[in-house]
Amino acid sequence: MIRFDNSYARLPGGFFARVDPTPVTEPRLLALNEGLVGRLGLDVDWLRGPEGIAMLAGNALPEGADPIAQAYAGHQFGGFVPQLGDGRALLLGEVVAPDGARFDIQLKGSGKTPFSRRGDGRAWLGPVLREYLVSEFMAAMGVPTTRALAAVATGETVWRERGLPGAVLTRVAASHIRVGTFQYFAVRGREDALAALTDHVIARHYPAANGPLSLLDHVVARQAETIAQWMALGFIHGVMNTDNMAVSGETIDYGPCAFMDGYHPDTVFSSIDQTGRYAWAQQPQIAVWNLAQLATCLIPLMGEREAAIEAATKSVHTFAPLYQAAWLRRFGEKLGLTGRAPVQALAEGLLTLMARQRADFTRVFAGLADGHARDEFTDPTAFDLWARDWQAHGPDQALMAHANPRRIPRNHRVEAAIAAAVAGDTGPFEHLLAAVTHPREARPAWDDLAVPPAPDEVVTRTFCGT
Ligand code: AMP
Ligand code: MG
Ligand code: MG
Repeated sequence: MIRFDNSYARLPGGFFARVDPTPVTEPRLLALNEGLVGRLGLDVDWLRGPEGIAMLAGNALPEGADPIAQAYAGHQFGGFVPQLGDGRALLLGEVVAPDGARFDIQLKGSGKTPFSRRGDGRAWLGPVLREYLVSEFMAAMGVPTTRALAAVATGETVWRERGLPGAVLTRVAASHIRVGTFQYFAVRGREDALAALTDHVIARHYPAANGPLSLLDHVVARQAETIAQWMALGFIHGVMNTDNMAVSGETIDYGPCAFMDGYHPDTVFSSIDQTGRYAWAQQPQIAVWNLAQLATCLIPLMGEREAAIEAATKSVHTFAPLYQAAWLRRFGEKLGLTGRAPVQALAEGLLTLMARQRADFTRVFAGLADGHARDEFTDPTAFDLWARDWQAHGPDQALMAHANPRRIPRNHRVEAAIAAAVAGDTGPFEHLLAAVTHPREARPAWDDLAVPPAPDEVVTRTFCGT
């Protein structure tokens, strides 16, 4: 049993298309996130049983589900596309957790919708397991993110460049409302819908906001925090299109994302990001660019136009100082420093050394706490000089141990886990999932997962995959 509410589906006119999931032939539960099941107040036994699995596969609709494909637009790599929308995902409904928090339950890979364009509406196992691993790692590190509730194999073949096993991911989010959701109505001149959407988002995510300008302030602040957390983990989202930026501030759309092994600020993985628009160091600026698009949508709701433009511009410009403060806090924690220590100079000094030698991002920071950081440098002399300066400020071990994961979902490990799962063995996926959802814990069985890729294991490209 699962009790759905559908506040988004009750919004008046034009926000979505009602569509049922397309059943699959042979659903098989691959993973169920029991911690998250508990958080949501759902029933593990029911979800593991035939009715639960049928729901997670899109084969049966529980009572109260009102499945919809959400409409949205978006700037993809800077070019505006007036209609995107859920092409292979369906919002089953919302669940209200025991503490009153509301969550979307979405199936991804559940079949065609009116927004599928030329796509098949399906997902293959690779991107489903990748999103599961990475989003659950992010959650374990306290990064605002959509979550993975379950992964189900469909028993069907999905055709990409070759035939691959199909899968459905059940994604949980505070909501799936994106910057692109606002753009969808703004480009159509639908002020009524924009106003309704604004009210909905305020009620749902920012009850303290009192109107569209205030909402913008809140979204800007939330995004500044989230992006600073990405930066502090060496995370590269890879496809920061406006349709992939949630107004809740949660990280969403784990298509071509990846974590850096060796550090360089210009690192890009996504095969389609040929200009480096979404490189690691670009992410804060791109967030501002995206937030400016949200501001553009909200301006018509803000009263007199000249004044609205000025106020919205000011709001978007608060990103820089908020981000700077969040960055200093996050990198301060990574260095074990608080108070008046010169965090900016020390962090930038270390990052410059790391970039020069492509030192491993995760291992250097994890190594600061246990004294092994210098081993990550081919020439440690410059590091030793830096470390003397840093030590003088009395870094706090516990702070560092909390901020710096020992393990991340390294690309080569994610790909190996996917390859094994495609061949029928989900053991490596389960092993990696356990290790990255306890990212700070030391356990000998997980030591090999902290090792960077050997030269022949390095992954240089990721794919949207779909
Ligand atoms: P993304 O690159 O994941 O942000 O997706 C961009 C757009 O393409 C969204 O509207 C998706 O719903 C749509 N899309 C991606 N893959 C598929 C697919 N296999 N079938 C239908 N639509 C898809
Ligand atoms: Mg997307
Ligand atoms: Mg995607």
